[in-house]
Amino acid sequence: MKIAVLPGDGIGTEIVAEAVKVLNALDLKFEMETAPVGGAAFDVTGHPLPESTLKLAQSADAILFGAVGDWKYDTLDRPLRPEQAILGLRKAMGLFANFRPAICYEQLTHASSLKPELVSGLDILIIRELTGDIYFGQPRGRRIATDGHFPGAEEAFDTMRYSRPEVERIAHVAFQAARKRSKRVTSVDKSNVLETFQLWKDVMVEIGQQYPDVALDHMYVDNAAMQLVKEPKRFDVVVTGNMFGDILSDEASMLTGSIGMLPSASLNSQNQGLYEPSHGSAPDIAGKGIANPLATILSAAMMLRFSLQQPEAADRIEVAVKKVLSQGLRTGDIYSEGTTKVGTAQMGDAVVKALQG
Ligand code: NAD
Repeated sequence: MKIAVLPGDGIGTEIVAEAVKVLNALDLKFEMETAPVGGAAFDVTGHPLPESTLKLAQSADAILFGAVGDWKYDTLDRPLRPEQAILGLRKAMGLFANFRPAICYEQLTHASSLKPELVSGLDILIIRELTGDIYFGQPRGRRIATDGHFPGAEEAFDTMRYSRPEVERIAHVAFQAARKRSKRVTSVDKSNVLETFQLWKDVMVEIGQQYPDVALDHMYVDNAAMQLVKEPKRFDVVVTGNMFGDILSDEASMLTGSIGMLPSASLNSQNQGLYEPSHGSAPDIAGKGIANPLATILSAAMMLRFSLQQPEAADRIEVAVKKVLSQGLRTGDIYSEGTTKVGTAQMGDAVVKALQG
């Protein structure tokens, strides 16, 4: 099992070190190789995704990724900015299926901005299509308008598009994921207004017929945004396009209280995956040893389950994380009175201890 370890920038190095510590505490054999990515790679090689890092990622079964980005790179040309590394990896490896579980741990229900009874026991899986839609559609650009409301004025445009095979493959991913859960899929679209999402909905219905044991319903994205804060527990698996998924998965993440708890996985059709916390590089707290490593540790658990076929090891890590929360250990982002505040490394050590105990 070969893992490419790409810590990246900011808190990336601190939180990935803890996930590696946890992986090393399992009685499994991994080959782990580390490479620079993002701003760290730009500093050394002049590019955020050097050829050698991409090669390593492509040759591995899975990538454990920290985070990229720092304000000091904000003046670079867009193709050289750290964030381009992640887009480059998604594109080069065809990582089209993004999994973002939003789980509200019993011990953290009070950390949510919603009432505890609305989020207690929450366990949603958002599946976002990651390589198509308006984020990648061509043509796009800026020009002088020749028609529309203001001919002769400068305008900008993007193209929303999905092909049938792109929707089919993400539909299969969603139905198969639902089979391992409570067998319900909500497909989120905007088919009342957009042709792209009428095709999306039609294909979801067609593929759904191959999964008669899974219940499929449809919701417009505006209603889904509302239902996520009104009655989040009505959802199980949510599948949607790239842009709607971007927005809804961030909304769902906040239901659970802290972004420091949320793992994610991005998979291609060969089950190769990139596993990373849902948060960024948090330059404001980098180097202080206070970042929450649990989202990265839980991403490592997803990696064991989805790409490395080690579901028992994944379960063990998830149980260990629940155990440290029950022991009252908290990093600053999830701290509340009556609990014990710990740093990044102490939290990692506690998970290792809980694994062994
Ligand atoms: P961020 O997620 O890095 O931080 C938002 C807030 O959450 C900050 O206050 C931060 O301190 C806090 N936070 C984040 N992770 C935490 C953790 N594990 N423990 C405790 N607190 C945590 O988002 P941002 O500030 O908007 O972006 C910072 C940089 O990260 C930018 O350069 C951005 O482009 C980049 N970014 C990268 C990724 C990625 O690598 N996939 C994703 C999002 C943002």
